[in-house]
This record gives sequence, C-alpha cells and structure tokens, in this order.
Amino acid sequence: MTVTRLSDYKPFTHDIGHVHLIVNLQKKCSITQLRMELASCSGESSPLLLNGDSNLALISITVDSVPLGKDAFTRMENGDLLLHSVPARCVVDVVAKSAHGIHAKSKEGILHSPKHPWFPTYTQCEREGFRKIAFFPDRPDVSAIFDVTMVGNAEHFPIMLSNGEKTHEAVLKNGLKMVRWHDPVPKPSYLFAMVAGHLSKMEGEFTTKSGKKVTIGMWKPAHIHHAKYHYAMRKLKAAMRWDEDENGLEYDLSTLNLVEIPGFCAGGMENKGLIIMGAPYMGTGYDKPNPESLSYIHSVLSHEFFHNWTGNRVTVTNWFETMLKESLTTYRDRQFYAYDKAHVLERIYSYKNVTWSVTDDDGKPLKPNRYKNPNDVGNSYFKYCKGAEIIRMLGLLAGEETFKEALSSFLKKHDQSHTGIEDFMSHVEEKTGRNFTQFKSWFTERKHPDVMVDGRWDEKAHTYTMTVSQSGTKSPRHFPMVMGLLSQDGKEFPLHLQGETGKGAAIFRTLEITKKKQIFVFEGISSKPTLSPFRSFSAMVNTSFMAGAGLDIEDLKILMAHDSDDFNRWRAAQTYIKISSQLQREEEVRLEKRKQERLQPRPSAPT
Ligand SMILES: [Zn+2]
Repeated sequence: MTVTRLSDYKPFTHDIGHVHLIVNLQKKCSITQLRMELASCSGESSPLLLNGDSNLALISITVDSVPLGKDAFTRMENGDLLLHSVPARCVVDVVAKSAHGIHAKSKEGILHSPKHPWFPTYTQCEREGFRKIAFFPDRPDVSAIFDVTMVGNAEHFPIMLSNGEKTHEAVLKNGLKMVRWHDPVPKPSYLFAMVAGHLSKMEGEFTTKSGKKVTIGMWKPAHIHHAKYHYAMRKLKAAMRWDEDENGLEYDLSTLNLVEIPGFCAGGMENKGLIIMGAPYMGTGYDKPNPESLSYIHSVLSHEFFHNWTGNRVTVTNWFETMLKESLTTYRDRQFYAYDKAHVLERIYSYKNVTWSVTDDDGKPLKPNRYKNPNDVGNSYFKYCKGAEIIRMLGLLAGEETFKEALSSFLKKHDQSHTGIEDFMSHVEEKTGRNFTQFKSWFTERKHPDVMVDGRWDEKAHTYTMTVSQSGTKSPRHFPMVMGLLSQDGKEFPLHLQGETGKGAAIFRTLEITKKKQIFVFEGISSKPTLSPFRSFSAMVNTSFMAGAGLDIEDLKILMAHDSDDFNRWRAAQTYIKISSQLQREEEVRLEKRKQERLQPRPSAPT
C-alpha cells in the first residue's frame, strides 16, 4: 500500500544489506537486474513487498537462484510486487525493463531527450523515482550499500557516472562499455543516481582535515561550450572547509561528482556523491554573472553539498519528515552564506524570502511546515526558508553554542540511519535541559503570530516598560525577541531587567516570549529611548516596524544612523524610504490640487 497519510506508516519488514544493480542502458529504455540480500526482521519466512511503477515491466524474479512461479507473487494494481513468502534470509533477483521518461516532461526515473541525441541520460529519484527503474522497497527508511554496474554503447555513453567511487571500467565486445561504481555508505533508493552520455568536466581537488584527497568533477553536457565553473568550484571547496571547521563534518568519499543538467526539474538534487544541478546553479548561462546570480549559485550549490550530512548520512524515516532534512540543510547553507558573505546580507535574504511567502498563491497562509499528507507540500521552496528560520529561532532560545553541540551530537547519534522531527526535538530538549513543547507548534500550525510592542519611558523612575502582545494563533507561540534600546544621541543603553542581580548588562537581550502578553521593565534608562525590536529578524512574527513597535520617523532616523544591528539599520532605512515616498506623493497630490484650483476661472463679481 502506498503510504498517503502519516497514520499509515509502518516500518519495513526486512533489512537489506547489499544491492547489486546492473543497468543495461539503451537509448529509450534500460534493462535492470537488481539483486538484494535480505533478512526478515521477524526472523521467519514472510511476505515481501517491492515497490514498482505500473509502467515498469517485470521480466523475471528468482529467490535464492530459483525462478518464482506466477502463483508465488502478485503484481498489484499500482505496480507494486508482492512476493507471498520468502525465507528469513535470502537473495532476491528481479529483472525489469524501464522505459525512459522524457527530459523536462517527466520528473522521475531514467530521463532522456529524444529531440537532442547529444543530451545526457540521467536519473531523478526523490521521492519515488527508483520504482520506475527497478523493483525495490522505494522508501527513505530502507538503506543499503549499492554496487552499480552500468553497461551501454560506448559511442552513445562514453561517460557513465553513478554514486560513490568508480571501481572498474572496461571495453566490452560489440561496441559496449562497462563501468562499475561502489558506494560504501548505505543509502535509501531516492539518493541513487546515474548520468550517462557525452560529458566534459572541470576537475578540482580537496584535501580533508584528516588528509584524505577528494577528486571533484564538475561535469556538463559536452555540447555546452561556455560553462564557467571557477566560482562554483571555489565556493564548493569553501563549503567543504567550513563544514569541517564549524561543524566537524568531513566529506566521506574520495570522489564528488556534480553534473549540470539544463532544464533539470529542480535547483539541484543531493544524490550521494553524484549531485545533479539545474542550470544555471553551477554557472552555465551566466555570461556576465551579477551579485544576484552568484548568490543563487552559492546558495543552491552549498545546499546540495550540505545535504551529505543532513539528509544523506542522516536521512528521514518517511516523507512526512522531509522538513527535517530540508530545514536543517537550509539552516546550514544560510549559516555558510553569513560566514562567507556577510551576516546582514544573509538576514536580509532570509527575511525577504520568508516575508514574501507568508501566503500561498491562493492567498491562504502557507501550509504547516510538517505535513501529514505528503501531497500537502505547498510552496516547498519557501517552506525550506521557513523551516530554516524555525531552526534558527530554536538555536537562539537554546543558546548558540549549546545548540551547535546538540545538532552535532544529533548527527553523530543518527549517522547512517533515519530519523524525524520528534527525535530531533527530544534530542535538543535532552541536551539543553529545556522543555520546547510550546515551541513545536511552529512545525504544525500555518499562521504566524501578529505581534505588537508598546514601550513607555518613566522620566522619574528611569525605567522603560515594554509590553509585548501576540495574537492570531490558536495558542501563544514561543519565540525569541532580540532587542536593544538607543538614546536620542545614538548610544545603546545597557539592558538591565528589573529584579535582576549581578553586575554588567549587555546592549542587546534575547527575551523569550511565551505568553499572550508579557511585560519587561528595564532599569537605568536615563533618557527617552528608541526601541530596536526583533534584531537580525530574530523571530518569524508579523509585526510592522513602525505601528507594531510604536516607532516614529525620528526613531527611524536614530536607528538608521546608530543601531549596532545592521539588519535593523537596513529595515529602518527601508521603512523610512517607503514613508518618505508616501509623504512625497501626498505632497505632490496636494500641490497639484492647489494648482488646479488656481487655474479654475474665478466666479465673476456680481454686477
Ligand atoms: Zn534540499
């Protein structure tokens, strides 16, 4: 049964150790021979369900080298193959014929371009593309070590790439060629990939911290003459180094291939050791790159690479957990962007992405980040950004260093395994000693809270009372509010909350908002302050910079000139420009009206 609701999910019945896949590539179809070594989880003979697309033609099945009769299996209506009973330990071989889909029309399976014979044949398997190639438990919680042998006409397929490391290459009879690939890291089938055809590459090398040499191949269809991958190569190596230095995560194979496929159905796909990039996300098509195009390359390329840990080595239990791999990876690619470019640029980029995507095309608020129906994906690209912001808010609440350690130990704990949001949140709670039950509604509810901030300065008591109110969600949300207070001459007040003991106070505070209404009283505020609210876009809440935080145009000028938070300086400037042009428009309308009034003929004096 295809799992369409979270409640239908059941763990798979067998463990798979090794998969040997032979693919006989032809122009329009491929013959696949898949051998899997199986062990039943119950330790007894049991049925075995292999997923298969209804267009995948079954040629033969054997169990422990014995051909299976027609009464020993059932081909289901949806194409799946149910073997009625297989021994507790056995080897199953299934041979099938896979018709190639059409590039840019079909989205999954083996794809080719009949119009352009020079175009590479390639695969796309996330989420259910592998079942168009071979009969297999095509689900993210079933991982195996893959050995892949590709056989094809040497003239049509001079280059044949798959996951992992190339172990053998040979010229066969009848103009055929054979290439073998071994991927030592267990992976689910959605991370399987092949690319075959006329390809050329730019090669690079990277030495990991532990001294391992990694050969990087950036491939393109050979007919594309002007692909420039120098920027992409530089940024990929920078991402590899950053992940080692910042998170202690090394690239695990000796080969990393990336292939740029113009017209690919997504920005990129993180297949283990064989990343497929859509053009122009590696550089093709940008004759004169501008900051925006370079920014796209930076983000998409590093995103696909960072999946190697958050998604590939640590994968998800089922497709309802997609949010975990995408939000953690987007969070990591945003962190790298902030490190490699500038913190404020990253914050502006994320702020724009999130605030421009508060609603779907139909005007309804975006769907929850963690969905119960896999077809309920909604606007997935923006969901990545929203997911990353949720992770970021959690990091702010947990404390940067503590959260970093929690994430690192989570990845170690689930390395080469599958997991989900619940595991992640439990782990963060355990490592931080905090209870994030209230915070979890960020994953499940559509709406973001509407927030109003009201500030009152007491001239005599030298206190500033800030009231934060939230509304618009089923129950109050838990979120961080990073803020500061500036004097009229632009100096930042040390922030000392009433009742706090201890010396010294920072010029910015991360306050935790958990209630409908919360009041914070700051002491020692000797002159009327200007509030700098939600610094660095600290929470995904709906609040306007002026009405929501009670700021006036003079406050904007102070923030623009003096705020130590660059993001709020930018936001104050944006608001100021908007208001100024609005005032200017109103003034122009007023002047035009006066002019028209003057031109009106005056009523003649009564005679
Ligand atoms: Zn991704």
